Amino acid sequence: MINRKTVVRSRSCRLEVAVCVFLAVLAAAPAEGGVDLVRDGTARAVVITADDPTPVAKHAANELIDHIERATGVRLDLATESTIPDPSQNRVYIGDTRAARTAGIDVDALTDEAAVLRATDRALYIVGRENAADPLDQNNRHSGTLWGVYELLDRDLGVRWLWPGPLGAHVPATDRIHVGERDERLVPHFTRRRLRTARSRWNDPRIGFSPEGLERYEAAQTLFLRRHRMGRGEDPRPYTGHSFGRWWRTYGAEHPEWFQKLPPDDEIDPWLARLPEPYRRSDGLREDRRGPANPDRSGFVSMCVSNPDLHREIVARWARRHERNPEALRINIGENDIPAFCVCAACRALDDPQPDAHELAAMSPNIRALYEPFNAGARYAHFWQRVHAKAAAIDPNVIVTAYVYMNYFVAPDPPFELHPNITLGFVPWQGWANWMPPRSETEQQWLMDQWDRWVATGATLYYRPNSLLDGYAMPYVYTRELAALFQHFAANGMIGTDYSSLTGQWAVQGPTLYVLTRLHTRPFDDLDALLAEYYQAFGPAAGHVEAYFDFWEAHTRQLRGGQLAWHAAPAHRMFPPESFQAAGAHLERAAAAAGDADGIYARRVAFLRDGLTHARLTAAMTARFADRDADRAQQREALESLAAFRRAVEDRLIANYSPLCREPFEGRWVHALEE
Ligand SMILES: [Zn+2]
Repeated sequence: MINRKTVVRSRSCRLEVAVCVFLAVLAAAPAEGGVDLVRDGTARAVVITADDPTPVAKHAANELIDHIERATGVRLDLATESTIPDPSQNRVYIGDTRAARTAGIDVDALTDEAAVLRATDRALYIVGRENAADPLDQNNRHSGTLWGVYELLDRDLGVRWLWPGPLGAHVPATDRIHVGERDERLVPHFTRRRLRTARSRWNDPRIGFSPEGLERYEAAQTLFLRRHRMGRGEDPRPYTGHSFGRWWRTYGAEHPEWFQKLPPDDEIDPWLARLPEPYRRSDGLREDRRGPANPDRSGFVSMCVSNPDLHREIVARWARRHERNPEALRINIGENDIPAFCVCAACRALDDPQPDAHELAAMSPNIRALYEPFNAGARYAHFWQRVHAKAAAIDPNVIVTAYVYMNYFVAPDPPFELHPNITLGFVPWQGWANWMPPRSETEQQWLMDQWDRWVATGATLYYRPNSLLDGYAMPYVYTRELAALFQHFAANGMIGTDYSSLTGQWAVQGPTLYVLTRLHTRPFDDLDALLAEYYQAFGPAAGHVEAYFDFWEAHTRQLRGGQLAWHAAPAHRMFPPESFQAAGAHLERAAAAAGDADGIYARRVAFLRDGLTHARLTAAMTARFADRDADRAQQREALESLAAFRRAVEDRLIANYSPLCREPFEGRWVHALEE
């Protein structure tokens, strides 16, 4: 996670720290400070919870005991405070206990997700604030006790969770576990850490998981994400949405002027023609040049954000909520899931001037699109600022949230000041094409510059990318690109993440997903060190596995991003048979180096081979379906062999099949299955 705030707080005086450590060592001599949990292959400690432990404390205690058993073969006893079996054993107190309070740990003073990790002579305390909620629920805000246990497993036992399920949990073997003396208060780096997950309702049992397989997969993934400390504290800021979905229905008839004013058809037609679905389908937009004729398209209207009556209504609605509940401090005004369309004079007057034609022409098409047909970043910044100012007159603690997105992604020309309570979700994506990795160096740098420019306004930022949606079931690997952006944002004020969406292709995209999850707790670790953690879990095969994924990362670099988002259709073109041949050779060598076929290293290499087979069968299937003249029986056969393979290996958790069940071939898939 985790910022270490040790009791020795003085960063400014190295000498003082050195003296403290020196004194501590002297005081502890000749015995070694800290606590033995296991020594010489025998238990030296008992794990203790309160007499009536919370679900978080129970789960945390079991996680600790299970991982220690995997590391040492020794299972520590679990007891409650009133029933400690062997008083001669060292004690590991998990959660809010009488002993922790007697030891002076002020549990009530801890912030929501904070943990105290204290190891003194013969006692270890792992303590956070707790509640009665489910420890596996990412919305459980009091998970500090669990975070403390995971931090200990991570730091002192070297446990690495590579992918969901037992095979993916790397627990180094040892015959001694000693927790050195410490007294630390830990808090997460980010107030919200979120990877949205693919929806289970997408699963089609004919080509995806069996119902039991789906349940097993999701349980393993949920546990895995909590081990990487996905969740959140009480901070209400890093949340927003597309906020005006119902506004046209509610206000459209009476206040069409609160909605976008469109230009004449001959101006808007070429522009709309360049938009992807669903934006292009905005025929209803033409109705009175404001909102959609079809109220079901209400989420596809943008607002006239310069209109002061709109601001007044937004603030009045919030003020009514706030009056009933003074804790209701957030106003979400994320634009609908659509570009800014309004061309009224007042809106256009707020826009920054376009770069000149020469400058625009020199931009990559992905960047240029964000200026099209106008650059509305400043317009929306004015909007958030005006709503915030009005609401702050009622309660100065009000929080305004919105998205930086589509043609309001480009930061306003400086100087432009925004209040820090204006919180922005930064979404590198636009309506014209899916802007996914791989990106050029220039594009990466441009994204970092935009982040910095928004931060320079004084607003608060969190990261809300869509890039995880790409890659389908294929070995689409981009660790460097991912880490460069994440680490730049983390070093420059990022308060949280909200990634859409984890598609869970663990066996072919492992290093990318490992680096991503790991950065949420170790945002400033060196990328190569994080990758080394992943590869080391393959033991003697590590070098070959590294070469294997380096091969795919180089392959991914020369692809065009965005083609595999949601749709498998071009998989065989992007990953031709010869690429599988070259990659497969690395895995052959890895298998030969991994040793005993039943050993954990060989089984992990086999996991990667299953992933490669799955990708190869996927490409073979898409090749059949891309060919409209292909024999129907052959199409069905390709789909069936893929489905049979998936079912045969589903308990190995190589991939989440649910997001792979979405029809990419305009119904031909489903047709083949139904024939
Ligand atoms: Zn307007």
